Amino acid sequence: MTEDKQALLELVRRDKDHECPGLGAQKVCVRIVSVADLPSRFGNFRIVAFWNNRDAKEHVAIVHGNVVGASQVPTRIHSECLTGDVIGSLRCDCRDQLEAALRKIGSLDRGIVLYLRQEGRGIGLINKIRAYALQDQGLDTVEANLALGFRDDERDYAVAAHMLHSLDVKSVRLMTNNPNKIRQLEGYGVQVAGRIPHLLPPNPHNRFYLETKANRSGHYIDFGGKPHVNEQSDPVLVEGMQEPTRH
Ligand SMILES: [Zn+2]
Ligand SMILES: [Zn+2]
Repeated sequence: MTEDKQALLELVRRDKDHECPGLGAQKVCVRIVSVADLPSRFGNFRIVAFWNNRDAKEHVAIVHGNVVGASQVPTRIHSECLTGDVIGSLRCDCRDQLEAALRKIGSLDRGIVLYLRQEGRGIGLINKIRAYALQDQGLDTVEANLALGFRDDERDYAVAAHMLHSLDVKSVRLMTNNPNKIRQLEGYGVQVAGRIPHLLPPNPHNRFYLETKANRSGHYIDFGGKPHVNEQSDPVLVEGMQEPTRH
């Protein structure tokens, strides 16, 4: 058995009775419960399954190479999007973002994609579809979420931080275009050693991002005039497009 697999299996044994005070407002604590090989069209990965003490959400880490005890591990945090990731919906760019991350990390010596089951920016699938229905009637993303009684963004990265601690990752280079995500993780004790811009390859489906660089109040508008949700919390950057300056 290879060293990286052995290191992950050791974490399953270590975590068997793990309990800690937890992270974040929800005091979330996770345990690594199982590890398996996951060959994929984007490279050869291991998949690491996590149990958590708060809800039945089964988060996973998709791991490439030896990450246990490693520093400066390239890491992408992806929030589940059934409609985008699986069905290829063009209402958002989630699938492009996920594929770009897996391809990139599959090509590096080591790296992690944390796949968080916080569908629809944390509001769940049914509520996300309700929000889409309101958007079909002309509301924008924010208005639709507020109309349903949610904040614009219900995501919390405490669980991601604990997952990285569980994997014994010393520091990460975060694949993100969102400095706020870095601050949140640092607040939970994750060492962020750097940032890798998360660039999507240009294709016919994300052409609208390139053509609407000047987005209206943070929302990308497609050719039909419909706003698209930015479900991954990252401003979209397509290769060849200039990175926006942020403060
Ligand atoms: Zn814990
Ligand atoms: Zn999506």
